[in-house]
Amino acid sequence: MAKTHQRDYYEVLGVTRTASVDDIKAAYRKCALKWHPDRHPQDKAEAEVKFRESTEAYSVLSDSQKRQIYDTYGHSGLSGAGGGVDFSGTIFQDFHDIFGDFFGFEDLFSGARRGGRSRRSQRGSDLRYDMTLTFEEAATGVNTKIKIPRQEFCGACNGTGAKAGTGVVACQTCGGRGQLAYQQGFFTITRTCPACQGAGQIIKERCIECRGQGRVEKERTIELRIPPGVDTGTRLRVQGEGEPGPNGGPAGDLYVVLEVKEHPFFERRGADLYCTIPISIAQAALGAELQVPGLAGDEKLKIPEGTESGAVFRVRGKGLADPHGGGKGDLYYHVRVLTPTKLTREQRKLIEQLGTSLKVENKPAERGSSLFDKVKDIFG
Ligand SMILES: [Zn+2]
Ligand SMILES: [Zn+2]
Repeated sequence: MAKTHQRDYYEVLGVTRTASVDDIKAAYRKCALKWHPDRHPQDKAEAEVKFRESTEAYSVLSDSQKRQIYDTYGHSGLSGAGGGVDFSGTIFQDFHDIFGDFFGFEDLFSGARRGGRSRRSQRGSDLRYDMTLTFEEAATGVNTKIKIPRQEFCGACNGTGAKAGTGVVACQTCGGRGQLAYQQGFFTITRTCPACQGAGQIIKERCIECRGQGRVEKERTIELRIPPGVDTGTRLRVQGEGEPGPNGGPAGDLYVVLEVKEHPFFERRGADLYCTIPISIAQAALGAELQVPGLAGDEKLKIPEGTESGAVFRVRGKGLADPHGGGKGDLYYHVRVLTPTKLTREQRKLIEQLGTSLKVENKPAERGSSLFDKVKDIFG
């Protein structure tokens, strides 16, 4: 045990370095009674520290051999093997002499809680639920209900695990104290009762519903509001919908982990959406007004005369929502001019005619004409 600061044992007991064994015993009795934690319900922890401190001082100074080591080498002389204070050992034998059957020191030193029945409450486990959404559901958000199996308190036995009407009985092994006392020398040491694990009570007949567990697995329906714009990997936390905490502790949380299915033609990058629209040579050369699919119904896409393949048109604010409450993303239409592959005889003739009157110099294109330069905004 690491000790950062240790007070002088004589100072702790308030005696001089030449004090007799009887003086030391009397001083310790005074200290121990003063600092008994039961007398300090407001600041029990601090009192316990003081109480242990004085006990430690007493255990050393009342032992002539240890006292000599301490006088010569100080605290460090006692910290090695054979030194120090063994709280589970012989020191307890002295208490009986000093205090008689005074209030439960054994509890204090065995580290057990007095009363034994105060089982520690803990926070319940978190639960994970995986959920798959369509692209549209993720885009618009949904209110849905999910069913999750989880541990709940058994209603039949009120969480006690005992069959209705039978209740619990005091543990016979420990007589309901939750602890077993062992006589050791003059003193008594207590241990947690193995029969009831310190609860002090035992179930007479097990509840049929929960087989004595006090909890049952139940399917619970939870209403879930999924905000628009969620994506694969989004984790929604539903507070307090995890498993209930043992011994009345707070419930854990439920985490809904989302997976969003891909859309057949919208590609998602953050809150922005991308979509490729094929157009004909004629539409590219002459311009056209198209009806193209958007997230919420069709959008009008006006292709200007002389549009090149690869041009990108942006419709601001028609992308996905930011689930964290930010603005909306944009919707991008990427135009691809389709080169005709299966021509009829007539179409071939027409294109041949076009070819003779439309000459292109097949020289390398200039650098720096990136796709982004071709993004054009569409308003309305
Ligand atoms: Zn039950
Ligand atoms: Zn017991």
